[in-house]
Amino acid sequence: MDFEKLYIGGEWVPGSTGEWIEVEDPAAMEVFARVPRGGPADVDQAARAAHEAFPAWAARPLADRIALMEQFLDIFRSQEEDIIELEMRELGAPWSFAKSSHCEYQYTRVRSYIDLAPQVPMVEKMPLSTVYREPVGVVGCITPWNYPLGQVVQKVVPALLMGNTVVLKPSQHTPLSCYLMADAFARAGFPKGVFNMVTGRGGEVGDAMASHPLIDMISFTGSTKGGIQVAQRALASVKRISLELGGKSPDIFLPMENYDDAVRSCFNSIFLNSGQTCTALSRLIIPASDRAKIEETLVRIAAEYPMGDPRDHSVKVGPVASMAQYRKIRSYIEQGIADGAHVLLGGVPDEPTHGYYVAPTIFTDVTPDMTIAKDEIFGPVLCVFTYDTIEEAIRLANDTAYGLNAAVYGPKDEAVAAAKQIQAGNVYINDSPRDTAAPFGGYKQSGLGREGGVYGMMEFTQQKALFDTYKE
Ligand code: NAD
Repeated sequence: MDFEKLYIGGEWVPGSTGEWIEVEDPAAMEVFARVPRGGPADVDQAARAAHEAFPAWAARPLADRIALMEQFLDIFRSQEEDIIELEMRELGAPWSFAKSSHCEYQYTRVRSYIDLAPQVPMVEKMPLSTVYREPVGVVGCITPWNYPLGQVVQKVVPALLMGNTVVLKPSQHTPLSCYLMADAFARAGFPKGVFNMVTGRGGEVGDAMASHPLIDMISFTGSTKGGIQVAQRALASVKRISLELGGKSPDIFLPMENYDDAVRSCFNSIFLNSGQTCTALSRLIIPASDRAKIEETLVRIAAEYPMGDPRDHSVKVGPVASMAQYRKIRSYIEQGIADGAHVLLGGVPDEPTHGYYVAPTIFTDVTPDMTIAKDEIFGPVLCVFTYDTIEEAIRLANDTAYGLNAAVYGPKDEAVAAAKQIQAGNVYINDSPRDTAAPFGGYKQSGLGREGGVYGMMEFTQQKALFDTYKE
């Protein structure tokens, strides 16, 4: 695959600036590819191509768009080995997680959007009017590096199915697997200009997208700070805005006999992908009466999460994605220690010599005022809090600026009662499986709008009411 081009108007074209962004393998600590450092002229070309393609694409029957998306899905599946290879290299994702989460779960998501698209209520009869849903137009999709394809699937697939055209800016840190996606759209036969991709930096390509007059909507996933900047810029031309932002998600353990499964479900969230997951359950809230038993369980089960080379199939925790990530996480661990939290496991990582490795780290004696209790660390770092009453547990769970995800583990009725009081867009009870049909998105500073299923597709539509009962 040639990574040194942009995909605009159905063609692979050179970037306008002649400059590059290097992509580093975090396990080898070496640059292995480069992509164009796109600029405003490239965004302009892409926005024009998408704008021109929009009327014909929007007019196509949904069945046609679904048929093309089926073709795309077939090609996307056939790319699995190449995607795994790229996610091991650009992100440092261990082989097993690259396969299950970065590939297979993404096919499930595409399948779900295809299956649910006919259920989006495109026409609704009101007492005195008829409400039609129409596509928004050109959607600018800006995505982060931690799930390089996952976050793109969540935007591009529903936006296209609903009749919008797209300009995608993948993260500058992990843009490579998106080249396979662009190739799959091209080979599936999507018309020229329906899907476009411009690589580059947030402050350059992202900025130009947020202010481009031919882009009608910005769908952003990334940090709360980045989302606020993009939204402010996009608001100047009153674009529609959808934001999927950060999290600091709580996991409440109710008193139980055995905590093994509860701990595994927490670790799968906070340690896999090296904790670089927006929904990571990073605040564990446990009953004080069972503290000793739970701490023993945490240390014992952590041994099931070996860290090492992403290519080793038994490895569960790879390196973090970059030197910047390594430094940021290390400084949070140092801050936690300085603030008086106790290191139960892990601790300050060694200087990186053969990969940006940060071992799973667990802090106990964390209090709500500590920086590690408040900030999204975005690494394999778990903060443990204790509670005496369920009211206190729920207060701790809601004591955050974020509200993306949460979990409650314990006897079902009590767990459901607690879950209903948590301020978050998603709450998992007893390690229930994910549901691609459910809405995904944040309360509070975790975002605006929803992705997933019919809810996610409706984000990419706008309503028009026709008052058709007028009589002469
Ligand atoms: P980031 O905000 O730095 O960057 C995200 C994307 O936005 C990148 O493509 C970047 O180039 C672009 N960008 C950044 N600043 C911009 C600006 N001012 N104008 C235009 N574009 C800009 O985030 P990141 O470090 O790539 O990703 C990690 C963050 O993403 C975490 O906070 C994580 O919680 C969040 N995240 C949220 C979800 C979700 O669904 N809620 C999913 C994954 C990641």
